[in-house]
Amino acid sequence: MNSFKAPRGTRDILPEEVGIWQHIEEVAGKVFASYRYQEIRTPIFEVTELFARGIGETSDIVNKEMYTFADRKGRNLTLRPENTASVVRAVIEHGMLTKLPLRLYYAGPMFRYERPQAGRSRQFHQLGTEAIGSFAPGLDAEVITMVVHLLQDIGLSGLEVQINSVGCPECRGQYRQSLVDYFGQFKEDLCNDCQVRLERNPLRILDCKTAVCSGLKENAPPISDSLCQDCSSHLGEVTRHLKLFGIDYTRNPKLVRGLDYYTRTAFEVVDYGLGAQNAVAAGGRYDNLIEEMGGRPTPAIGFAAGCERLVLCLKERRSPATTTSVPDLLLAAVGLSSEEYPVKFLQELRRAGLSVLFDWEKRGLKAQLKLANRIGVKQALILGQDELDRQVATLKDMETGKQEEIDLVEIINKLTG
Ligand code: ATP
Ligand code: MG
Repeated sequence: MNSFKAPRGTRDILPEEVGIWQHIEEVAGKVFASYRYQEIRTPIFEVTELFARGIGETSDIVNKEMYTFADRKGRNLTLRPENTASVVRAVIEHGMLTKLPLRLYYAGPMFRYERPQAGRSRQFHQLGTEAIGSFAPGLDAEVITMVVHLLQDIGLSGLEVQINSVGCPECRGQYRQSLVDYFGQFKEDLCNDCQVRLERNPLRILDCKTAVCSGLKENAPPISDSLCQDCSSHLGEVTRHLKLFGIDYTRNPKLVRGLDYYTRTAFEVVDYGLGAQNAVAAGGRYDNLIEEMGGRPTPAIGFAAGCERLVLCLKERRSPATTTSVPDLLLAAVGLSSEEYPVKFLQELRRAGLSVLFDWEKRGLKAQLKLANRIGVKQALILGQDELDRQVATLKDMETGKQEEIDLVEIINKLTG
């Protein structure tokens, strides 16, 4: 019989790797809290229409990347490909727009039907934030600063912040036309997807990763020439605030985002060590999305980081955060006439917060010490009948081999103190 395998594009996060994930989640929780974001958890699936409307009918995600299915009653549902649309839905549904400003963060799995490769999978994980209720450019800079703060605290360095403005519906029309004029000259050379994009959403050609299209992009007109006065001064204010925050950045006038809802500020944090899939975090403003989804007009800005790519970066740098935690102590009971004492003691040690390894196979002391050594347990507490009779145990340092006898009543204090 064939054995089962995880579906293509998904993977198991095994115990030896999970420490990095926990590290990332823990740091993110702390950093987000210091910027006063509160966690929100939305369902893994939503009605399909939510994403079609929220992310945009012409986006790659909605066109070809959604995991859509009908439930038993024939309702059309989709596994969430990103979390902003769901957060906006929740905020509107629960009347939270009356309590502005809002600062929300999330973490969890997302699903996109993409071609799996390094840093790109079908179930992947994002953590991100949404700040709702302000047009202020200082906020945009604060969000970018927070992303840099987060990535640094996670243990990454050598990252580049790229920033651009994708304009507003007023000035984007003009830019759209200059792109149609420009890419129209090379229509035959564009990849198949971009030939369609030329008709439906020419901005997205700038996001195409194929060699031909990225080559043609080099000489495409930059959006900076088309921005209206308001969008242009907003961008100026964002970069001025970035300087106040002391954040280095690069202006990338060809940076666009794959989702339709972005307005004005768009940014990405790039790790050049990662190859083609080099964006570890990305975000931007979406001042019209909430209204488009049925809420009162409310500006907002958010970002999302891809956890798989963060893990790749950390592994590449062999950060200390990648080491897994090990038990603090081996409790080795040898040759005892009764199990009563070691089992009670085992429980006491664990209740005191120690991580204790115990051998139910009841192998000999040598075998137990060998196992403890192999998995890196630092200390062994040896309990034999002779010791128990004298109400002591032997504490052995596994690295130095040094041993000492300790009174049973003092052990917990000594080990936890
Ligand atoms: P890309 O251009 O790499 O496809 P995107 O524009 O589709 O990214 P967003 O939707 O903005 O990405 O998601 C934010 C982050 O989530 C990305 O920067 C990336 O780190 C991560 N991400 C997106 N799609 C995937 C995926 N299929 N597998 C793993 N990580 C992903
Ligand atoms: Mg994508």
